[in-house]
Amino acid sequence: MEIVCLDLEGVLVPEIWISFAELTGIEELRATTRDVPDYDQLMRFRLGVLEQHKLGLPDIQRVIAGMRPLEGAAEFLQGLRQRYQVVILSDTFYEFAMPLMAQLNLPTLFCHRLEVDDSGRITNYKLRLRDHKTKAVQAFRQLNFRTIAAGDSYNDIGMLGEADAGILFSPPQNVIDEFPQFPVARTYKELQAAIDAAGR
Ligand SMILES: [Mg+2]
Repeated sequence: MEIVCLDLEGVLVPEIWISFAELTGIEELRATTRDVPDYDQLMRFRLGVLEQHKLGLPDIQRVIAGMRPLEGAAEFLQGLRQRYQVVILSDTFYEFAMPLMAQLNLPTLFCHRLEVDDSGRITNYKLRLRDHKTKAVQAFRQLNFRTIAAGDSYNDIGMLGEADAGILFSPPQNVIDEFPQFPVARTYKELQAAIDAAGR
């Protein structure tokens, strides 16, 4: 029996922080794990920028409410779930992701939580578990599942390496260059084929 572990942003939905940066015009918020491999450093930076601009969770949620999954993502995921157990492993937060997950027919999502005060200001973030993507894959394997993992950036490399098969989906060139051991899929059709090849 196989479990397919998918990253969320850049694989099924757009990068939430980039969409937010575009709407607000705050250029610094365009940075992602593609640019800054250290996630803690990146999050502290983002929260500092939000604080500076006096922006809270409701402002971000207004943007997310207008976002849509990537073209073809819902159909791809629906097809995949008919043949595999699928778990989304993401470093986003439930507070951000749920409106988008509803548009994907609510697959299982493991991610983190934000701490928000009464005024909507994001005061902190709570990682459920550090490097949880890698640890989830390890745990699934201990439960005797074969695992196939796909993601697009630095924070996916641990789970890709830990899985029985790891696949890069539409990664930036620097990630391809640094991790040439993983096959690359650029469309859902290619990703589907790579998953099926690994699942055989
Ligand atoms: Mg991603």
